[in-house]
Amino acid sequence: MSGHVRFRSFRQRLLVRLTLLALIAMLLASAAQVFLIAREQRQQQEQLLHELTSTQVPLLQMALWDIEIGTLQSHLQRISGLSAVAGVRLHSETGLDMVAGELPDKREADSTLMIPAPPGYAQQLGELQIFFQHQHLAQRILGAILQRILELSLYTLLIFVILFRTLHREVGKPLQLIADYASRLKPEKHAAPLALSRAARNWHDEIDLVCRGFDTLHAGIRHYAEQHELAIEQLASERDSLDHRVEERTSELAYLNGYLKLISGSSLKLMHLHHTQYPQAMKQTLKLLGYYLQQDASALLDNHRLRVHWMKQDDPQWLERLEQRSAVEHEPGWSIERLDERSLLIHFSNPQHSFGYAVRGCTSQAVASDREELLQGAGQWLFSLLQHWDHVIGLEQARQELLEMSRTDPLTGLANRRHFEQHQTDELRRAQRMGYPVSLLMLDVDFFKAFNDLYGHTEGDACLAKLAGLLDSRFKRTGEMAARLGGEEFAVLLPGIGLEAARQAAESLGMAIYDLHVPHGGSIWGRATVSIGCASWAGQPVATTEEIIDGLMRDADAALYRAKDAGRNQVVAAREAAEFSDAQ
Ligand code: GH3
Ligand code: MG
Ligand code: MG
Repeated sequence: MSGHVRFRSFRQRLLVRLTLLALIAMLLASAAQVFLIAREQRQQQEQLLHELTSTQVPLLQMALWDIEIGTLQSHLQRISGLSAVAGVRLHSETGLDMVAGELPDKREADSTLMIPAPPGYAQQLGELQIFFQHQHLAQRILGAILQRILELSLYTLLIFVILFRTLHREVGKPLQLIADYASRLKPEKHAAPLALSRAARNWHDEIDLVCRGFDTLHAGIRHYAEQHELAIEQLASERDSLDHRVEERTSELAYLNGYLKLISGSSLKLMHLHHTQYPQAMKQTLKLLGYYLQQDASALLDNHRLRVHWMKQDDPQWLERLEQRSAVEHEPGWSIERLDERSLLIHFSNPQHSFGYAVRGCTSQAVASDREELLQGAGQWLFSLLQHWDHVIGLEQARQELLEMSRTDPLTGLANRRHFEQHQTDELRRAQRMGYPVSLLMLDVDFFKAFNDLYGHTEGDACLAKLAGLLDSRFKRTGEMAARLGGEEFAVLLPGIGLEAARQAAESLGMAIYDLHVPHGGSIWGRATVSIGCASWAGQPVATTEEIIDGLMRDADAALYRAKDAGRNQVVAAREAAEFSDAQ
């Protein structure tokens, strides 16, 4: 909007106003002059008329009364000769009409003086018409007006000059500078102050007030700019520190994330390990954790004894000290004990268990108090791993026991039939691969029904256990196995042994049993004896494992019955391998 408004300097406006004012003043002054001149003129005329009335009218009265034309003429000449009078006209009652001076055309007389008759006569003698000098008056008025105009013009011009000079120097120029300054003024810290070069005075004016206002404004702007700059700087530093904090948090989170990954990864791995793999795996876990938590040594203590440890460089003294420290009574629950500047012992104890996680930081910073919580968390986790490990060991023991139970004949402690068959299959496969023979002995206690009948079932059991003990002690070589197949029947597997050697072993076994001298009143030998059937596979790859086993069992069994048939307490070997093959 301001773009459309025309600029008019106050000097221009002042000029216009002063001119108008001067014109009005001239008009008023001229009017006053005219009025004064007119009044003065009128007063002069009245004065003149008064003088004429008192001096000339009696003379004219006398001359008219006497009808002295020449005198009248000279009187009229004298009157018209007055500077204020242009002309006169005398008009008598007798019809005399005399003129002196110049009479203006068709103009009424400015004034008429009556010329009375001498005292005692009623009528008047005539009248004297006076025509004043109007041209002179007009000239005077014009002159006066011109003089006023000239005076006022000069005066106005002088005022103009003085005013303009003063205004320009005192107001216009400073205002222009102020306007320029204001247009350049920006909210900056180093904004220049308004510097007007004004002469030193012991007073001040409006411009000084404006300057002071601008100084205040400048100080305000400078303060504002400083505050603004400060705020910006604070904001920037705030932003930087925020960036820094975000960075710190991010790396902290990444660190924790890595830590969690390590824990979950290790947990998963340890979950599926065999207990024998645990020592190595736990050591590896301690190492990973150690590298992650900036440690150079760590150890797990279980019931005051060192269970697993890891260290960058061997330091048996440190471990020894740990065991000593761990043995000291600790409060129930979790506790943290500082062993030295770089070592911490995180301890847990309850009535059943005492657990310790000892760490040694690469620097004291790594085990600083702000990391204790993290380290205790790690300790809790390791403790749970240790418990899991124990659990795995327990499970393995139970499994072994169960396995043992499932494989063993409870009465004699020998392998049962199922275990024997499994073992037989394994050994036969190995023998097939390696090409060595496998022999089988099958034993049956002679007249055992009679033994039971004679001594009772319990004694029968004891007899069976005794025979089993002998079997067990005689067949200890790798792959050999004695088993109770059921009732009073036993079998012995002899890998790597041919039929003849097997038969000799069977003879020797039969004699050993005979020599045990277990009393048996129902036997013709008066003691417990066995009959033994012997069979052998000579190592030829003639059939499948199952067929070989079936053949062996059948042959041994057949041989056993032949031994029974032949009178008991003897050994019968099965037919030779060739014959056995033919039988298939
Ligand atoms: P043979 O000389 O012909 O083998 O005669 P035997 O009496 O031994 O044969 P038989 O098969 O007729 O009898 C086997 C007996 O073994 C029957 C049973 O009472 C006994 N017996 C089987 N199992 C056990 C056991 O676990 N404990 C005891 N005490 N006796 C058993
Ligand atoms: Mg039997
Ligand atoms: Mg028998």
